[in-house]
Amino acid sequence: MAGSDQTTVTLPTGEAIPKLGQGTWEMGERPNARKGEIAALREGVELGMTLIDTAEMYGEGESEKLIAEALGDRRKELFIVSKVYPHNGSERGVQAACERSLKRLKTDRIDLYLLHWRGGENLEGVIAGFEKLKDDGKIRHWGVSNFDTDDMEELFSLDGGDACATDQILFNVARRGAEFDLLPWLRERGMPAMAYSPVDHARLPRGGVLEKIAAARGVSAFQVALAWVLQQPQVFAIPKAADVAHVRENRAALDLHLSADELADIDQQFKPPRSKRSLEML
Ligand code: NAP
Repeated sequence: MAGSDQTTVTLPTGEAIPKLGQGTWEMGERPNARKGEIAALREGVELGMTLIDTAEMYGEGESEKLIAEALGDRRKELFIVSKVYPHNGSERGVQAACERSLKRLKTDRIDLYLLHWRGGENLEGVIAGFEKLKDDGKIRHWGVSNFDTDDMEELFSLDGGDACATDQILFNVARRGAEFDLLPWLRERGMPAMAYSPVDHARLPRGGVLEKIAAARGVSAFQVALAWVLQQPQVFAIPKAADVAHVRENRAALDLHLSADELADIDQQFKPPRSKRSLEML
């Protein structure tokens, strides 16, 4: 997928990464779902969705183990993102947590390592720990998640804070608050935003404009919602799909380009923000 403007976004370092990846929250937790989950992740990688998002929190490490099992033989092609709990958010804590994640992932490096959310962490310590991990070759980039604009300002006010590669945030057609200030703030600094729950955790409203466009285009409402996210500049997305058919549909959404009229119709139902809204979290 690399190499084309429509299929990649660029990190502040200039590295291009896939615009469409795969989430893994709630995967690896149920033995009888494992075979299907492995098939889904492998199909996604086969289709070029080589960016894989996980976290130490997901199934308390079970998602990371599933990724090792499903994709160990494809490691070289992958861009692995994992996240550290805020309660491990200290210089030593992030290093120890990273070692545990590396073991579960059966790899020697994480491509992008994020602080999962704010919650009692020592932000200076987190930056120092992340930089040490980078120096040691255990992570390639670091970033944050669920940081609103004021959190990003605070991060950038700290020594080394501007080395942040991305902010992973809740962003989809039904949750557009970040468009008001956070997305422009990130764009001004050449930092892509990583959209989680891009189909709103499968809770998008039924009926309405998404289904109308979907019917006219012969696709699903999920695909329209995902295409909308993917059409935002410098935004990349990590839909989670444990069903192979959903994975294929999600990949096809990357080729679905919504017209100006369709985008305007979407704005009628899902209004863009006109004032600051606090960043939501799932
Ligand atoms: P999501 O990707 O918006 O939605 C996942 C749900 O949508 C699943 O039930 C999935 O079903 C269904 N789905 C996906 N594609 C579909 C399609 N084409 N047609 C019909 N249904 C479809 O929600 P999410 O899992 O919350 O978010 C994605 C990833 O973002 C997570 O897995 C995780 O990696 C990350 N995340 C990060 C944070 C954070 O705080 N940083 C928070 C939430 C999520 P099936 O599984 O049955 O295919």
